[in-house]
Amino acid sequence: MAHLITEVVYRGIFQKNLASRITRGIVLSARKAGRWGIAFGRYGDSPQRNGVPAKDFAIVADTKEELEQHMARYEPKELHVTICVDDTLTKGVESWAWYGLQPLNRLLLPDGHLLVTSTQRPADLLRDIHKKDAVYNLWILRGKASFSGLWVYKEDHIEVRVLGALAKIAPQFLTLDAVCQAIREAEWGSDLKVESARKAYERIQGRPVPITEGNPETPYSFELPRWWEMREGVSIPSLPIGKPIEGGKGYRPERSQVFKKFSSRTMRPVIDFETCVKCTLCWLQCPDSCFDVMPDGLYDANMESCCGCGVCEAVCPVHNCITMVNEAVFEDNASQWEMWRRDKDAYKVWLAEKIRDKAHTVRSHGFRYRGQYEEELAAGELELGGLPVTEGIPGENAAEKGLPPGAHMHQSSTSIVTGVAEAPGA
Ligand code: SF4
Ligand code: SF4
Repeated sequence: MAHLITEVVYRGIFQKNLASRITRGIVLSARKAGRWGIAFGRYGDSPQRNGVPAKDFAIVADTKEELEQHMARYEPKELHVTICVDDTLTKGVESWAWYGLQPLNRLLLPDGHLLVTSTQRPADLLRDIHKKDAVYNLWILRGKASFSGLWVYKEDHIEVRVLGALAKIAPQFLTLDAVCQAIREAEWGSDLKVESARKAYERIQGRPVPITEGNPETPYSFELPRWWEMREGVSIPSLPIGKPIEGGKGYRPERSQVFKKFSSRTMRPVIDFETCVKCTLCWLQCPDSCFDVMPDGLYDANMESCCGCGVCEAVCPVHNCITMVNEAVFEDNASQWEMWRRDKDAYKVWLAEKIRDKAHTVRSHGFRYRGQYEEELAAGELELGGLPVTEGIPGENAAEKGLPPGAHMHQSSTSIVTGVAEAPGA
């Protein structure tokens, strides 16, 4: 008797359809090879929130009885494979259901497999992935995070490429032939997608990660209330109002003590305090009340509550005053305003380095217009998700958000974190 337990870690809503295609694809492939399987989501992620990390699972077993045994659990506690479809989730996974931050590799069994879609190098990803007390294998499927909406799907073949990669990682459960057959017969399948799965199978690279490698930080956690401590109707207390920041000046709203949002965003706003005209638009429009009003009247995006939606960038009337930047290039969640107050020259250098030429920071944060995915896919390499189109983002400042023509035409072959040339498998 043998079984394979897999999870897909994804961005709520934006990757909901992707995760479900992958887990269903695993089950369909297993059926083609004469096995049994089931796909399901994590109860604690429902209802899903835009961008908030969520999980789907797929279990494959040799016999019905063995499958039923594993289905009896609320959710799997140990996994053979974790699939992560957005590499900013390597920083950790915090569901909105008070779980605290969980390392991406937390549930992996010794010698398990972590498969990440990314254009970064393993060494870059391992700066964020937490250390583990057992050796596991890291596989990188070259590609960008693929985001869609609830009713629209970006057909960049990422689901079938993941399935092809799995046939390499767990051939005893998912043979390449079975995967190809399942893809061909799926309602979203095609011969071209079968080809993509085969290519992924041939190209995927992995390597073992020793216990000495990885991010040494201890992730934050929260004490979950016992059932007898819960309030009537399982209601939760509302947030108290905020207070001034220092010397009776400024204002910082109170924030949730049990949900930090640090892992909810794929981009974050970077602010040029020298050019801010204190118009209040970012503060008024931010859907998550992220902006602290600082004692000097400037607005600081507090990373404890930023979900990375990009609204502040879209509404800011000043050219390049707010720029959304890929979350992967940040090491902490510290206040930008405090950094600026401490040393304005150093902040200027930091700001320029983070924004760079924008080619390094371009990334979808959810906005799109009708037909944008088709345009992106037609304009660039399918395997890398096409070319990012940022022109057309809604907002007064939309014209300033795109890259100069041609600048975003190729996914960089250099690491977005270190700026050095990428070598898959390095
Ligand atoms: S990206 Fe801007 S508007 Fe969106 S949550 Fe963060 S600070 Fe608020
Ligand atoms: S929208 Fe831009 S200019 Fe206006 S307060 Fe915010 S950062 Fe400053």
